[in-house]
Amino acid sequence: MKEQIMRSAAVIAVLGLILTVIPEAKAAEQVNILVNSGFEEAGVPVEQGGWGDPASAWHLFGGGYTRGAYHAGQYGIDITNNDTVSLAGAYQRIDLGQTQVKPVFIGGFVKGDNIVNSAGGYFGASIYAEIHLDNGRIVYWNSLANYGTFDWHWIGFNTAALTIDGVNKLVNRPISHIYIVPLLAYASGTASFDDLAAYEFTPDHPALTIMFDDGASSVYTAAKPVMERHGFRGTLAIVSDAPGSGDADFMSWEEIKELSGSGWGVASHSRTHRDLTTLSQTDMLSEINNRDVFAGQDLTVTSFITPFGAYNSNIMNAAEKAGYASVRNYEQGDNPQGSFPGEIKIRGILDTTTTAELAGWINEAKANNSWIVITFHEIVPSGDDAYHTTPEIFADMMAEIAASGVSVITYDEGVATYGVTK
Ligand SMILES: [Zn+2]
Repeated sequence: MKEQIMRSAAVIAVLGLILTVIPEAKAAEQVNILVNSGFEEAGVPVEQGGWGDPASAWHLFGGGYTRGAYHAGQYGIDITNNDTVSLAGAYQRIDLGQTQVKPVFIGGFVKGDNIVNSAGGYFGASIYAEIHLDNGRIVYWNSLANYGTFDWHWIGFNTAALTIDGVNKLVNRPISHIYIVPLLAYASGTASFDDLAAYEFTPDHPALTIMFDDGASSVYTAAKPVMERHGFRGTLAIVSDAPGSGDADFMSWEEIKELSGSGWGVASHSRTHRDLTTLSQTDMLSEINNRDVFAGQDLTVTSFITPFGAYNSNIMNAAEKAGYASVRNYEQGDNPQGSFPGEIKIRGILDTTTTAELAGWINEAKANNSWIVITFHEIVPSGDDAYHTTPEIFADMMAEIAASGVSVITYDEGVATYGVTK
């Protein structure tokens, strides 16, 4: 999906009363159901829930692994392939025996040394899972694939977030058991893994975030008054070079700070809104490392929103190193309890989106007790592409959200409540 910076010259200054209710952001408890998740213990036998290898307590997968680099503690594992057709790693089976669909986060830390992909390969260094449902169907999935040489970084996914089309969930039944496999597949080099985790959650409430990408001035002039009438706080994804540029199409720092002061959230949407996958490493890092620009305005940003939703493992790694707690792209879906903060999904609003569609997404969030991030761009009567919403439809959508009774929280509150922590 693409999204673009929009242009607007709408000026409708309306002030309203604000009624702010800040819900308690409380993360769910994380209980690691993996055995020997940090590879610290050796020799835990299979019958006691261990990994089976007497030397390291893991089952060997393919070419196996050795004890090697570590992220925390004293031990981790190294998986080495000498060619791009080999598979190697470790695995553990987790029996869940779910009687209702419960989200499971699967993740861990990976480090890479000269990992080279095979042509068309999509595993690289990743955490792979075979998720066996209660009717015998198996869902196969792996985390974002990692390549090249990189220091420890965090990867993962949530079983309840898995979808190919943004509509149909792959794990739509209770889970019987899961095989979790840190692996290096169809790629050469050495991948190290450590501190893996599997957390099962029982979600108990839905939530909704109203987000605006690009910081268009119409958000201040047209969206803010409507939201104030409902007592809603939104979240802005700001392109940090825009507010100080004098371009009237974008909100000013004063406007952004006013909204932040009234409880709105602010996230970084890069410096100049270029496709990060097309830039040199230096330029890409410059686009991501712009938290100081926000700090210079007394704004703290802890979330990064990729321009055009374009990303790869190198970009995700850089965002993590820059200190962002979360990365949001433009993939469609809801966010279950225990979401990986590097893969927060959205429901993007285009000029063709109806209030009935929004109502459907809200009902999905209620049914799943999940968090949805409704993402707008400009709120203007007309635009030259699909990334705008008319003030009338926007007002209708806000009324729909208010009528739903689902609590409206900022993006960072959503990450804190629904995201897992390292
Ligand atoms: Zn954008």
